[in-house]
Amino acid sequence: MSAPLLSVVVPCFDEEESLPELVRRVLAVCSETVGQNFEFILIDDGSRDETRSLIRKFSDEHPSIIGVFLSRNFGHQLALTAGLKVCSGRRILILDADLQDPPELLPDMMRLMDDGADVVYGKRTERQGETHSKRFSAHLFYRFLNMLVDIDIPQDTGDFRLISRRALSVLNEMPEQHRFIRGMVSWVGFKQVPLEYTRVARFAGETKYPIRKMLSFAMDAIAGFSIVPLRLSIYLGFICALLGLFFFAYTAYSYLTGIAIQGWTTLMSVVLILGSGQLLVLGVIGEYLGRLYIQSKKRPLFIVEEIVRQGEVSTSDNDPDDLALPSGIASSQHAAQ
Ligand code: UDP
Ligand code: MG
Repeated sequence: MSAPLLSVVVPCFDEEESLPELVRRVLAVCSETVGQNFEFILIDDGSRDETRSLIRKFSDEHPSIIGVFLSRNFGHQLALTAGLKVCSGRRILILDADLQDPPELLPDMMRLMDDGADVVYGKRTERQGETHSKRFSAHLFYRFLNMLVDIDIPQDTGDFRLISRRALSVLNEMPEQHRFIRGMVSWVGFKQVPLEYTRVARFAGETKYPIRKMLSFAMDAIAGFSIVPLRLSIYLGFICALLGLFFFAYTAYSYLTGIAIQGWTTLMSVVLILGSGQLLVLGVIGEYLGRLYIQSKKRPLFIVEEIVRQGEVSTSDNDPDDLALPSGIASSQHAAQ
């Protein structure tokens, strides 16, 4: 069977309420744009609700729908990675299950790609239904990130984008465990163009990114793309040295002029400044070291338990040799059989 023109890849975690509407809208826009020449991959990221059985049902009903069931919750970026490894289309549309990003933009994205783009990324001009604090923190974060990294990661974008097979092949070669996919796609290069749109509120359900996950995602982005924080100790060292010099001059002057120095207070503040500086730097080193440690284990990025397509089911045989391969490649090869 030859590769379809288009793959739509959607990670789903507890999305039972959005799924029927998602499937209806994606199928409609795909058949309008590329006829039957597409596949629609839904990844169940260890959902606790009826998402999995719904995907099973949809894949029975529609031959273009493929369900990829992960063995547990691996998180948004790894679930998406699983879908990107399994898909075989020549162009790949990445979408969220909650319909915040309208699938109806597909024809416009395809047109931009016909004109020579390798990546067409959705750029949010407006974000509806999101709290002020989320908008503000996202805004600040992307500006801060761009100060730290060398590559240009576009502001106000999510993972909503259409990418070409050659760009995806490079992305699929990247073995990192801590993935910040929107940044990794920018890193790949080629011609990348924006398509502006309004991000609407979630169709149903709650965000799956509580503040804790958002912070760790932000750390993945920074640590994955910049080593500037590691240089923090150098700058901090300079500042402390300057402070030390100042204190030394002050002490010498006080000694020579015979003024008594308030010793305890001065000593305490110096100890506290140095102590917190050292802990901060250690923490930054720890963040990078931890990532290095996890990466060095070369565990698979995700584990596929089952793939369903056209009523057929292929289950993972849990061959230990398969699972030992890095990057979940074993799982995706399994899928291709
Ligand atoms: N998601 C996932 N695994 C997770 C968390 C989220 O597959 O552990 C999916 C989720 O179902 C959705 C997408 O990732 O399709 C984006 O999540 P969400 O809409 O909650 O993020 P937000 O838009 O609030 O940043
Ligand atoms: Mg969302």
